[in-house]
This record gives sequence, C-alpha cells and structure tokens, in this order.
Amino acid sequence: MTLLTPDICVIGAGSGGLSVAAAAAAFGVPVVLVERGKMGGDCLNYGCVPSKALIAAGKQAHLMQGGAAFGIAPAEAEVNFRQVMKHVEATIAAIAPNDSVERFTALGVQVIQEEARFKDGRTVIAGDYEIRARRFVIATGSSPLVPPIQGVDDVPYLTNETIFSQTRRPAHLIVVGGGPIGMELAQAHRRLGSEVTVVEALAALGKDDPELTAFALRNIRSEGVNVLEHTKVTQVEKRGRSGVRVHVEDTDGTRSIDGSHLLIAAGRTPNTASLELDRAGIQHDRRGIKVSDKLRTSNRRVYAIGDVAGGLQFTHVAGYHAGLVIRALLLRLPAREDRNIIPWATYTDPEIAHVGLNEEEARKSHRKISILRWPYCENDRAQAERKTEGLIKLVTDRKGRILGASIAGANAGEMINFWALAISRKLGVRDIAGYVSPYPTMTEIGKRAAITYFTETTRKPLVRAVVRFLRRFG
Ligand SMILES: Cc1cc2nc3c(=O)[nH]c(=O)nc-3n(C[C@H](O)[C@H](O)[C@H](O)COP(=O)(O)OP(=O)(O)OC[C@H]3O[C@@H](n4cnc5c(N)ncnc54)[C@H](O)[C@@H]3O)c2cc1C
Repeated sequence: MTLLTPDICVIGAGSGGLSVAAAAAAFGVPVVLVERGKMGGDCLNYGCVPSKALIAAGKQAHLMQGGAAFGIAPAEAEVNFRQVMKHVEATIAAIAPNDSVERFTALGVQVIQEEARFKDGRTVIAGDYEIRARRFVIATGSSPLVPPIQGVDDVPYLTNETIFSQTRRPAHLIVVGGGPIGMELAQAHRRLGSEVTVVEALAALGKDDPELTAFALRNIRSEGVNVLEHTKVTQVEKRGRSGVRVHVEDTDGTRSIDGSHLLIAAGRTPNTASLELDRAGIQHDRRGIKVSDKLRTSNRRVYAIGDVAGGLQFTHVAGYHAGLVIRALLLRLPAREDRNIIPWATYTDPEIAHVGLNEEEARKSHRKISILRWPYCENDRAQAERKTEGLIKLVTDRKGRILGASIAGANAGEMINFWALAISRKLGVRDIAGYVSPYPTMTEIGKRAAITYFTETTRKPLVRAVVRFLRRFG
C-alpha cells in the first residue's frame, strides 16, 4: 500500500469532482482524484452530451420535413443511424480532452483510476493506495434506477449507459418513464425514424408546471410518439429472438405492447453502494448522502456534492456545489446552497425551463402573488420563425419581485439564463421593464410579461393606456 496525504481527496471525476480538483490544483493545493470509470462521468459519457448530440441530429431530420410553412418543399430525411451515432461519439470525443487524465495530471492533480472506499473516518482505499486527506469530497454521481418490474431481469433492456452505443435504429422503442430523460430520448428517436411508445405511471414531465408541459406533450404526440400517462408497467417479457413485450395497466384495464427495444428511464439511484460509508460515519439513505446546506456530511471531514447529495440532479448543480465547496475549503468563505436560484431545462421540442418558485409553491409561501403570462404567438420573432407555440409564466410577490419563471417554447433553455440572473440578484418587474431588449428577439417575451404586472395592479386608466402602448412598442 502506498500512503498519500493530500490536502483534498476527490472521489468521482464527473461534473462535480473535476471542478473541485481543477480549482484545488489551480490554488496549488495538493489534490488526489479517484475515478473508477470514464473521466467526465455521466454528463460527458452517458448523459447531457450524447443526449444533446442525439437531439440535435433528430432536430436536423425534423427540420427537413417542416419547410412547407416557409414555402420550401418538405423532404423525407434519409437517416443513417450508424452515422448519427458516429456524430454522437465525435461530440463526446471533441469534449473528452478537457476532462482527461492527461489534462488533469498536467494541472497538478494526482489521478488514480480505481474504485474508492472508506476504510475509516479519515482514510480512503483506492487500489494500492491508502489516502489520508485533510478533507474528502464525494462526487460519485448516480446510476439508472431499474424498478422491480416482474420479468425485468430476463429481458435485454437499455439504459442511458447503453443506449448511446447502439448502432442500429430501434424499430419500436418502448420507454419506461416519462421524465425529462425519457421524453428527450423518445422524441429524438421518433425524429430519427423509430416508432416510440412512452409508458409513465404518473403524468409525463410531471415535475414541471402542467400549463407549460402541455405545449411539449402536444407537440411530441403530434410527431407520433405514443405517450401513455397514468399507466403502470406490470410485467416485461421476451418476444421472439430480440423483441420485448410490455404488459401495462391503466384505468381501462390491462394490455400488452410489443416493441423491439426497451429503454428504462425511470429515475436515478445515488452511487453510494461501493463507498462503505458506514465505516466513515457518513449518513445516507436511498436518496443519497445526507448533507447540510454547506454540503457537509455527518463526518466533518467529508463533503458530498452533485447527484450523490440527493438534491436536484443536473450538471450545473454539481458545478454549483463544487464552487461552494471550493469557497469553503480553499477560501474559507461562508458558502450555503440556495436551491431557489437553480434553473433547469428539458430539451424536448419545445423546450421547458424553470427557475425559482412555481405558482403552487409561491401560493404556499406568500400571501399575495401575481402571475404574469405572455404567449410566444404575440412575439414578432416567434411569428417570423413560425415558433409560436409556447408561453412564459412569471410569479412575483406583492411588490413585483420575481419569485419564479417558467418557459415552454423555442429556446426556453437559453432564455431561462436571464431569469436565473433576475432571481439570484432579486430583481423586480421594474428592473425588467426598464432595460432595452433588441428587436426582434424571443427574449422580449419576458419583458412583455413583466410589463403586464402594471396593468394587473393599477386601476388608473392613464397608466393602463401607457402600459398598453409600452406593450405594443416598448
Ligand atoms: C440521459 C441523461 C441526460 C442528462 N442531461 C442533462 C442535461 O442536459 N443537463 C444537465 O444539467 N444534466 C443532465 N443530466 C444529469 C447530469 O448528467 C448529472 O446531474 C451529472 O453528471 C452529475 O454530476 P456528478 O459529478 O454528480 O456525477 P457524475 O458526472 O456521474 O460523476 C460521478 C463519477 O464518479 C465515479 N464513481 C462512482 N463511484 C465511485 C467510486 N466508488 N470510486 C471512484 N469513482 C466512483 C463514476 O464512475 C463517475 O465517473 C443528464 C443525465 C442523463 C442520465
């Protein structure tokens, strides 16, 4: 055994762990990074990057069929699925050097490619190394959760860890789970020519406001994805040589659906099993490692960040957590997580994005709120682009401070940046109404929504007339 005594030992080289390790090295702090799989973690290899590359390919195919409205004859896209997956692979390969062992070693990080486990409260074992660090940061991420469906162990199924290495287009992909991952992959596969069925036990995209998800669901269904909501998968079995039969149950009774491939996208489970956390006195449950708002675990030497910390599971959250831990460990500055400022986006078409409180949460925590809406169809750029399906919905308090923003529509994932800044800086509708937005841009939709605050809260006819004018020309 080789004994290492760095200042910081990071476990997991994904979105969170890499950021901590890079920052520590930049400050000249001795740091060891332990990774058991591929550098870059889920986001680069099995998550955000390949899924967004596949979505981009699907979008390209879809655009070819959508020219009629612009006076351009629609063309049937000829999809070469193998080449599509080469594009996915090439996208990962283009980004991978940023996360590589070579790059991190050059930055001054000691990278150990082994699985880590705790020996005791201040020691981690990784292969032939015993690491006794001043502080540990657990950033081990999460894995696909496979629900205990009858027969699941006897059928071949795909998860996010295997679907991006398929080289043949699934003839009929059955997706178990209608959350963001399931719906993004369902729409992308449909656009690339697969028949697709999604089975969701509750409401599809159920973590977002139904007023907004309705836009995405309507479009996804109109493209031919069969989305079954409030439908439970009761059993799966093999059909023929490589197919699958999925038995489902809803209020009308039971039936079965035959497909060629099964994708399980039914949630995530934290990667804690191999860490032997109990030896280090680190409390955890099935949602993840328990952390304080400073991301400290029940062992004061140990922090946990990203997916494994049991909160919102996004790359930018892992990055945000990494920033907080760096503040605390390297700069000794106060650092508390503020979940309210964290945006998220689902990259279906149309996209759905949200930050802050939704209407229901705001009603619970505030006595009086305003809901401000503006539809995409009232935006000139959206008309020109023929992207008129969508809505922005703002939630403000009595004084007009922005509490939350939700957008469904084209570029929602880009537009939510603006609102994430507005909420983190505690801006109000007056700030939004007072800035100048270039015309014609879709971001103007938000400004228009903010201006409606004044019509909603005033009874003075002159003010209403001015606001009407501003809404038209402001
Ligand atoms: C299909 C899909 C699409 C997604 N799309 C998006 C998106 O568009 N935007 C977004 O923000 N998020 C997206 N996510 C979520 C995002 O991928 C995760 O939130 C993010 O990767 C979490 O980062 P992390 O650092 O916590 O964990 P990870 O990036 O998963 O890294 C954890 C690392 O720890 C390693 N590890 C685990 N246990 C050990 C051990 N005992 N010893 C050593 N190493 C270990 C793992 O091998 C892994 O490399 C998506 C996820 C999926 C599955």
